[in-house]
Amino acid sequence: MSGPALTDNRIRQRLFVEGVVQGVGFRPCVYGLALRHHLSGFVGNNSEGVFIEIEGAAATLAAFVRDLRNNPPPLAHIEQITITEMDPSHENGFEIVQSQAQYGANTLISPDLCICDDCLQELQNPADRRYRYPFINCTNCGPRFTIIKDIPYDRLLTTMAAFPMCEACEAEYYDPLNRRFHAQPNACPDCGPQVNYIQGQQQMWRDDAIGHALEALHRGQVVAVKGLGGFHLACDASNDDAVNTLRDRKGRQGKPFAVMVRDVATARQIATVSDAEARLLTSRERPIVLLHKRDNTLSENVTSGNPYVGVMLPYTPLHYLLVERPLVMTSANYSNEPIVKDNDEALAKLSDIADGFLLHDRDIHVHCDDSVIRVLDEVEYPVRRSRGYAPFPVKLPFNVSQVLAVGGELKSTFCLAKGDYAFMSQHIGDMENLETLRAFERAYQHMSTIFRVEPKTIVCDQHPRYLSTQWATRFAAEQDIPLVKVQHHHAHIAGVMAENGVTGPVIGFSYDGTGYGDDGAIWGGEVIIADYMQYERVSHLPYMPLPGGDAAIKNPYRLALAYLWANGITWDDMLPPIMHATSTEKRVLRQQLERNVNVAQTSSMGRLFDVVAALIGVRQEVSYEAQAAIELEALATVTDQIYPFSSIKALLTAIVGDLQIGRPVSCIAGKFHNTVAHHILQISQQIRERQGLNTVALSGGVFQNVTLLQQVRGLLNNHQFNILVHQQVPANDGGLALGQAVIASQLI
Ligand code: ZN
Ligand code: ZN
Ligand code: FE
Repeated sequence: MSGPALTDNRIRQRLFVEGVVQGVGFRPCVYGLALRHHLSGFVGNNSEGVFIEIEGAAATLAAFVRDLRNNPPPLAHIEQITITEMDPSHENGFEIVQSQAQYGANTLISPDLCICDDCLQELQNPADRRYRYPFINCTNCGPRFTIIKDIPYDRLLTTMAAFPMCEACEAEYYDPLNRRFHAQPNACPDCGPQVNYIQGQQQMWRDDAIGHALEALHRGQVVAVKGLGGFHLACDASNDDAVNTLRDRKGRQGKPFAVMVRDVATARQIATVSDAEARLLTSRERPIVLLHKRDNTLSENVTSGNPYVGVMLPYTPLHYLLVERPLVMTSANYSNEPIVKDNDEALAKLSDIADGFLLHDRDIHVHCDDSVIRVLDEVEYPVRRSRGYAPFPVKLPFNVSQVLAVGGELKSTFCLAKGDYAFMSQHIGDMENLETLRAFERAYQHMSTIFRVEPKTIVCDQHPRYLSTQWATRFAAEQDIPLVKVQHHHAHIAGVMAENGVTGPVIGFSYDGTGYGDDGAIWGGEVIIADYMQYERVSHLPYMPLPGGDAAIKNPYRLALAYLWANGITWDDMLPPIMHATSTEKRVLRQQLERNVNVAQTSSMGRLFDVVAALIGVRQEVSYEAQAAIELEALATVTDQIYPFSSIKALLTAIVGDLQIGRPVSCIAGKFHNTVAHHILQISQQIRERQGLNTVALSGGVFQNVTLLQQVRGLLNNHQFNILVHQQVPANDGGLALGQAVIASQLI
């Protein structure tokens, strides 16, 4: 036997593979597979994807394609394989051919993914040349998105360009059967990035930097740790003093800190973990998973009374070396600025917060915060979509022209759409200051470069005071391209439609905190009938006074007072928000409301949750967005009872009545959730009867409330509605840009 037999049934096919197929070990995988099946031909990359020519017996070719589909490399994501028949060329052997770089590229870029099992074993193996090396990686794992400066994905166009490979690494890099074949960030202790530890102003250690950092952490100190997409501030999560020090220095009182633990077993000690949650914790995306906290050894101040704790597992080799016990790992930033990513910036901005700095010399090209995910009925429900997910696109149900959608203000992300892909950016932050705007601009430059998108249209919110709107207006003028302004709640509903591949029309519930309405009022309790082209506002919560705008949002007790006043309900001194306000405050607020000075009007459902939370004594002042609603949700017990909801007056009167007869607040909270769920069912039924629509879309920040969402889903399911909820982008404003992009692409 010598080589494949030249028989008549020998055929040749050209395969073209699209998706995430570059920088993920795709060609070596194809190479190995072709050798196993004794096929001849070649494989190569171009900027559109991977091309393969294979030749052999028909049945073997079919088996090859089946194996490729079923067992692609771990990081690959095959979107499509196109097969064309060719004439056999009767060549022998199989090879990997040179890349054919082209511009106008359409290849997808892999997100940053966690260390793989093979690399983890090497990290822990004293005999391995990369034993305890914090930057170990291979084609199946490691940094991608945050180190890529441009395409094609090649070491010289990443921040690894500064580290020429040693001979041993190079040998792996050029060996098609090696796990590190063409692994662009390939490195070892001899040639790759290094860590160092800086304590105080001058002391610096290169040797055993991690040992020094560990010692500081175990002493209860705060250490700034440079990771994959930016810096974390770390401290021992079971040390009260350490956690309190971090809170004091960061000036962050209420908002819970995320915790990194070694493994699922440790996660189970601090929280309840379902099977679905365990799968998510150990997934290669390694998000922060919001879990129900247990009473345990974790410092109480990690979550400050919040019933959930955000938990993640280590995702870089560096983290594996560092996380011996549960650590607080919170994004390192100064005030409300974006996450810090550079060494100089960290030393300058975090010196008042951190006692020590664990630095390394591999640059982070773009920042990328940790993602945050909840599990809803076994399925992922994103709260923040960032590291591990960005820049993987959302697939659209139609083709779009090149669009840039800039999102909203809080929890901002942007979207670049092209073809049938919507590339959602990493989490940018609250666009309320110049630093965040700069981070947005940098992220935009980066993503438009690596995906070769040149926006023909730019889309923003209607809110005139959003920084994003102002930036979009300037950008459109500079580039001389059309600017489209999209109503906030229409964008929310269009977003959930798009990721579900539905074109509508649908019954859309956009239950939200704040959104600029067509009439200038603050909307947020909106029911719209919508498709991508247009929407009709068919129902909304009645307008209520919002005295002093932000002052009311940060102080739910002031909101409660305003809502009671507007509905003619007495300010009874026994009610928690009335007790909380000083008599001067009450007098001034009453005057403000009566004279209607600086009082906005709002139909927001988010505000109604705040009012109820204050009214029953759950929370009077908040230190982060949606805090009152989150605590109200956590308290709610399941009940069949509902409140009358013909008007806000009827609702609030009934709640006050329940308080007066001493009904437990957990029961009132549960009853309120059930009331809102039934309200949604009732309106949906009315609209179905009138208009024949059967699909209900649920979006807006209020639907981060999983208790509410589960109840609504249950009710709508029982009544045979088709229900759309978010799975890929958050229901809050972090998903807004997706809706903006699809609406604009339909309008032009
Ligand atoms: Zn690996
Ligand atoms: Zn090396
Ligand atoms: Fe919103």
